[in-house]
Amino acid sequence: WAKAEGRGRWAVYDPQRGARDLASSALATRLPVALERGEFVLEYQPIVPLHGGPTCAVEALVRWDHPELGRLGPDRFIGLAEQTGLIVELGRWVLRRACADASGWLCRHPGARLVVSVNLAARQAADAGIVDTVAEALRDAGLPAELLQLELTESAVMATAGEPLRSLRRLAALGARLAIDDFGTGYSNLAYLRRLPIHTVKLAGEFLMDVGADDALGARGERIVDALVRLAHALDLTVTAEAVETAEQAARLRALGCDTGQGRWFGPPVPAAEIDAALANGGPCADGAG
Ligand code: C2E
Ligand code: MG
Ligand code: MG
Ligand code: MG
Repeated sequence: WAKAEGRGRWAVYDPQRGARDLASSALATRLPVALERGEFVLEYQPIVPLHGGPTCAVEALVRWDHPELGRLGPDRFIGLAEQTGLIVELGRWVLRRACADASGWLCRHPGARLVVSVNLAARQAADAGIVDTVAEALRDAGLPAELLQLELTESAVMATAGEPLRSLRRLAALGARLAIDDFGTGYSNLAYLRRLPIHTVKLAGEFLMDVGADDALGARGERIVDALVRLAHALDLTVTAEAVETAEQAARLRALGCDTGQGRWFGPPVPAAEIDAALANGGPCADGAG
């Protein structure tokens, strides 16, 4: 694999050693150019209180407007960016763009106090500069830290090993909120989770898939969600249900005690300007909360 040799320097990618196919090696090679040329864009997906009220947060989701291939989703390139190390630079760009957009929303719609939620990759979370990167992004954007949430998967938390508590505590000490993403899909070390300075768990879509289905799978899915919600609430964490696709799911997840929901039922990821437009109309997807 091509690997980072210090900040901002990348070794030449060698497609014969480890590239699974030509297409992904070509994408990996182009990533640094794409970052330089500004081909990445963010979309924002609303996170909505299940028990009423306007959108309280939006998750920043990165896309690549590839000149030949069109718009690519993160599943096509985030893994490659992690392997090549470019994720540190790309992740810094995402953080800075998201904080700038959130600062703009705060300035134009001060009443909404919309939180922006940004994904941190394992390698990015493990990077020694992550706390400074977040602090600088907040400061340069003029965004109050409590309006930034950072999402880490369980494996990203574990990747900070050795120093995980220290760097998570430093991030929390900045005032940013921390969330565990795709909660329940990794190896949950519950004793460890209890010691982390986190505020929120996001329940992975794959648990929720069956919720609301009128069959054995549905019943089982609901028991799992019920157990996870009780666990999270016992630890004073708020619960966001991801990938909510139907009215039935939204209703069941509300009944099971989930605090907030995100998914196509409430609204797809949209460009920053659409969030502005929705805030001007009293909140994005305010009627999706049904
Ligand atoms: P995630 O953080 O769990 O993000 C939620 C994913 O669920 C997004 O996929 C979103 O578009 C998708 N989704 C939204 N509504 C629904 C729904 O109703 N049903 C289903 N099945 N899915 C829904 P997306 O945008 O393709 O992102 C995929 C993953 O890529 C993200 O999962 C996240 O892990 C990663 N990612 C995205 N942006 C970034 C980034 O800036 N940095 C890093 N490190 N990872 C990112
Ligand atoms: Mg996708
Ligand atoms: Mg996420
Ligand atoms: Mg997730």
